[in-house]
Amino acid sequence: MKLKHFTTYHQIRRTFSTLMVEPLQEEPLKFENTAANYFQLDPNPSNNVPRQVRGFAYSKCTPTPVKNPYIASLSESALNIIGLNKATLLDNKQLYADYLSGNRLFPGSIPISHNYCGHQFGTFAGQLGDGRAITLGDVKTGDGGLMELQLKGAGKTPYSRQADGRAVLRSSVREYLCSEAMHYLGIPTSRAASLVVSDETKVQRDPLYSGNVIWEKCAIVMRLAPSFFRFGSFEVFKERDPMSGRSGPSVGLQDDMLQHMLDFVLDHFYADLPIPDPPLTIYQSFFQELTRRTVKMVSHWQCVGYVHGVMNTDNMSILGLTIDYGPFGFMEYFNPRLVSNHSDQEARYCYENQPKTCKYNLKRLAEALDPVVPLAWSMEYIDKKYDEMYSGEYLDMMARKLGFKIQGQAKAELSDAEFQLISSLMGHVMPETATDFTNTFRILSKVTKVGPLDEVLDKLVSYSAPIEHKKAMNKPHYAPGALLKIKDILENNPHVLAMFGLDPDMARKELELYEKYKAFDTQSEEAHNLKNRETWAKWLIQYQKVLNPSITDQARAESMNKVNPKFILRNYLLEQAIRAADDQGDYRVVEDLLRMASDPYSEERISEVSVQPAPKWAYELCVSCSS
Ligand code: AMP
Ligand code: MG
Repeated sequence: MKLKHFTTYHQIRRTFSTLMVEPLQEEPLKFENTAANYFQLDPNPSNNVPRQVRGFAYSKCTPTPVKNPYIASLSESALNIIGLNKATLLDNKQLYADYLSGNRLFPGSIPISHNYCGHQFGTFAGQLGDGRAITLGDVKTGDGGLMELQLKGAGKTPYSRQADGRAVLRSSVREYLCSEAMHYLGIPTSRAASLVVSDETKVQRDPLYSGNVIWEKCAIVMRLAPSFFRFGSFEVFKERDPMSGRSGPSVGLQDDMLQHMLDFVLDHFYADLPIPDPPLTIYQSFFQELTRRTVKMVSHWQCVGYVHGVMNTDNMSILGLTIDYGPFGFMEYFNPRLVSNHSDQEARYCYENQPKTCKYNLKRLAEALDPVVPLAWSMEYIDKKYDEMYSGEYLDMMARKLGFKIQGQAKAELSDAEFQLISSLMGHVMPETATDFTNTFRILSKVTKVGPLDEVLDKLVSYSAPIEHKKAMNKPHYAPGALLKIKDILENNPHVLAMFGLDPDMARKELELYEKYKAFDTQSEEAHNLKNRETWAKWLIQYQKVLNPSITDQARAESMNKVNPKFILRNYLLEQAIRAADDQGDYRVVEDLLRMASDPYSEERISEVSVQPAPKWAYELCVSCSS
């Protein structure tokens, strides 16, 4: 072990004291440092001091130690990807708590942070960068690929702006568990290998943005991805944006840097791109492939009801992976307008907007890649192909969720009747009945081609949202008095609506919402259930008719249960895990959730309690960005 890797006296002292008592694996990881070797690194010696970084994709930086870190949880399969072994880590707990918190550097690691910009909520935000994530380097994986190791929450970097470089325990538990859950759901994602906590290093946060600032414990997640390059990595050249007044830090340096950066991504992570047909270039072929991957990713999101919450261009992976787990949420009682992020007042990133947001983000990337990928071409490509690609992918996944196709059957055109059933399910039945998204598909696997539907109907109705919840979902944004005024203006003076920040369509939607909202006041729970039952019964009768006669009920059910998870990380379950961890230092609920998330299709291994939709206290828990 070489001394030059230690950054503080504290670390050196700690290392030698641990060396005396613990067997030390000499080189636990063999670092390639692909990015640090490829790019010239920002040479500024004050490398952890926040500032604008011009002309560099990465800056050197050093993790800042936390007090007495301990390993709270490890994901064995994620550790295995980089050749680490859970048992070895637990045998050398303190040593690895130091490594995985950044208190001690792995031999051979060159820690760096990445420079990127981003469009946030539709506005260019200028330089953002890794404000609290530090890349330790990357290692070769068993299949010859690369895996970058990042410590999120490891302290300040040049990109920390006014913030502290830390991540609190609650947001770290969420990122740790959800990364792994998404992986086991078969969704492209970064992974999380470890959760390390310090009970003594605390930072101030206002978790609900309510003015109530509290001290919270810090945690560090080691996350893995071949690369954490983002769409926003290429936005560093952006000229001054008239709306925000911001520019990218490397404006004017595009000719020197853009192609070099793209080559980095293509050479290392898109090695098997098909040779493009002339006149397309390899860069255009890359853009097509990334579009395909992004479409696939978001189709998966829609099909498990995952709401990312902060789909800014800086949170979009250049490899088509789900990254940056923050205020995400999984759909429970179906609501196409579900917003998981407390700060997203306009519902910009609600469930139903996710596919079009990916399209918007690809267009921002297209702008950033011009002229290496010519803008006129990329814009036309997105305009012509994106919607078609998305609906192809989404409908294929839905067809499998509903058992129209079973495992092993190739992608094929849907029949009109199948298409109609998917449309009416997602556009009418689910929003009307607000049935629990995950349980719906598991219950539908019990439908037989002939035979009674009562049991299925009972179940679906029992998993449909109670009136109280529906009221909360349909709550108008304006008070009744204001709505009366809006109605009057809409009928007599629609051009004045702009004064309320509304257009006629929005006003009509608000009024419709209000009518629905009022109707729930006079409806009994019984009448409500009866209506849900009728809505479901009509659809189910059609569903039975459309089911493919050459597929047996059993084969269809088995296939459906392999694509429709029984377990998803419901926000209230995460909340319970966080409470136990934060209040009592008890990580058993975290472990339980990790275990169930690792086998989400299993009928046996998932507790019935964990498949229940949110109880009243947690209806559509909205998580803030405070993390
Ligand atoms: P996010 O919303 O988590 O994607 O973060 C947006 C930007 O804010 C990124 O540049 C983050 O690195 C940065 N950021 C968020 N929280 C912190 C923090 N506590 N310290 C430093 N930078 C942060
Ligand atoms: Mg981010």
